[in-house]
Amino acid sequence: MTAKRVIEGVHVVPMGMANAYLIEGDDGLTLIDAGFPSKEAAVFEAISALGRSLDHLKHLIFTHHYLDHIGSAAAIVRQTGATTYMHPLDIPIAESGGPFRPMSPAPSVLGQVMCRLFYNHNERVAPVAIDQTFTDGELLPIAGGFDVIHTPGHCAGQVALLWRQGRMLFAGDVGMNLVGLGDPVGFKSLIDGRASQRKIAGLSFDAVGFGHGKPIAREASTRIRKKWGKASFMEYEERLDNVEAA
Ligand SMILES: [Zn+2]
Repeated sequence: MTAKRVIEGVHVVPMGMANAYLIEGDDGLTLIDAGFPSKEAAVFEAISALGRSLDHLKHLIFTHHYLDHIGSAAAIVRQTGATTYMHPLDIPIAESGGPFRPMSPAPSVLGQVMCRLFYNHNERVAPVAIDQTFTDGELLPIAGGFDVIHTPGHCAGQVALLWRQGRMLFAGDVGMNLVGLGDPVGFKSLIDGRASQRKIAGLSFDAVGFGHGKPIAREASTRIRKKWGKASFMEYEERLDNVEAA
């Protein structure tokens, strides 16, 4: 599997069952997330396919700390010298390489199955040093500007990044697009997760890329507003009660 263009200047890079995104800016290349371990070759191939050398990768921004997003980070930084960025709440775990925070499976069959199959919080990966932090509402002056939107729920330090130039949102694991738009495999806090889904549903953008599943290139914020504009914890509790009562 090779990298694919999503919109002008953005390529999705397959990193195991996870996505990284390579973005072309006037200030060099930026990578969002670093996939499962031992997948760094996919990033290096994607950089070469653009006719660039590895040292053109200047920035590596993480949406959050879980092992399927930082797994190949240490190897990528070693080869490229990229500067790393992460929300302060997730940094200690990335810098120790695990163990990761436990989470509860999302309240769906897919969540229950996937969380058990793919998520083991005791796993360890190569630690990655974080050079810079950011906070909610900050504009990162990279590739024409990324707005940082704190989106906790899946984990405490998760962020979404809105790339102004391409009007594309990098949403991490606020949701997934595996079999249509849906929840991430699990939540540390379902209440926060629902609030974060509502938060991204209130934004305006054309394209969206999740950590898992297919990116959406057009009319993405309309679809997300439909799915999560009214996402609530209560509504979910009711649905669970109904399932249990049935
Ligand atoms: Zn993930």
